Amino acid sequence: MPDRVYNFSPGPATLPVEVLQQAAIDIVNYNNKGIGLIEMSHRSKDFMAITVEAENLIRELLNVPQNYQVLFLQGGASTQFAMVPMNLLGPGKKGSYLNTGVWAKKAIKEANIVASAQVAYSSEGSKYDHVPADGDYTVDPAAEYLYFVSNNTIYGTQFHTMPKSDKMLVCDMSSDIMSRPFDITPFGLVFAGAQKNIGPAGATLVIVREDLLDRVAETVPTMFRYKTHAEKGSMFNTPPCFAIYTIGLVCKWLKKIGGVPAIEKINREKAAILYEAIDSMDFYRGHARKDSRSLMNVTFNLPTPELEARFVQEGAKRGLDGLKGHRSIGGIRASIYNAFPKQGVIDLVAFMKEFAKSA
Ligand SMILES: *Cc1c(COP(=O)(O)O)cnc(C)c1O
Repeated sequence: MPDRVYNFSPGPATLPVEVLQQAAIDIVNYNNKGIGLIEMSHRSKDFMAITVEAENLIRELLNVPQNYQVLFLQGGASTQFAMVPMNLLGPGKKGSYLNTGVWAKKAIKEANIVASAQVAYSSEGSKYDHVPADGDYTVDPAAEYLYFVSNNTIYGTQFHTMPKSDKMLVCDMSSDIMSRPFDITPFGLVFAGAQKNIGPAGATLVIVREDLLDRVAETVPTMFRYKTHAEKGSMFNTPPCFAIYTIGLVCKWLKKIGGVPAIEKINREKAAILYEAIDSMDFYRGHARKDSRSLMNVTFNLPTPELEARFVQEGAKRGLDGLKGHRSIGGIRASIYNAFPKQGVIDLVAFMKEFAKSA
């Protein structure tokens, strides 16, 4: 096993070491076939099997029924901000949005280019320190869907339960997909950039209810239609082969350790250790309101920006890497996704205690 730092990076983020080791072998020589994984045709039998297996594992882990399509697309989660309204709304139609952070706000901007967005709720006025509860907002009756971001990566807030609505839900789950079980049936569409919780950068997972594929207008270019990719099993054009393969490996790893319910338990343990430390010392202040705290990204501040800079630097020297908060809120952010080891959280808390004493 190589000497590894504890990687608190928000994304691309830490992956299970056994996944990296397997990928390192397969990149050079896939399955002893004498050909490297990333030089194989995407239409080869071997690669088609990799894609089908990855899809089936996702279906199994997330309990996705057959009337949903599972797609691997490119362009990052950010492309979905536009593709969602292009496919589900179109001119004259409206989606309802919960503005709980930068990623939600960017999605609202794109929705207003393509169609129109009702902003049913915004926590921008309090630096996005919380997410709304059901009843804190009213969805426009004319809206086609209710769009939200389940975990706000930058601010460290998360919906502890999914919003309830008579509209179908659309969700950006980029930073918490597969971190906890959820019932997909109220959702029309779920998407996630792979690079936070399920793989490397390059692929965006889209799970979309089949009956929605036909909503798309003739004016939407071919590559931007979900239908195009659904009809071709994500092989309309060259897909992000390496990312799909690695997502498959991450899913196998997750399945082996007990699936999504098992990882949720570990995620809760890790987050509890860290929040407990923050709450027990006056020196540290959590950014997120307690009712909205994220299990994936833990954000906090020290008394001054100078101390925060020193904390990040000294942490890195001890192998606690990537703790700097997002430039929009500063402070510290510890991203502790599925693959992040519990021992890294324990080490971080030990460092926090020492640092608070010495500062
Ligand atoms: C990182 C992130 C994005 C942006 O993802 P890209 O793949 O870089 O476009 C969108 N939404 C959320 C919630 C994120 O965490």
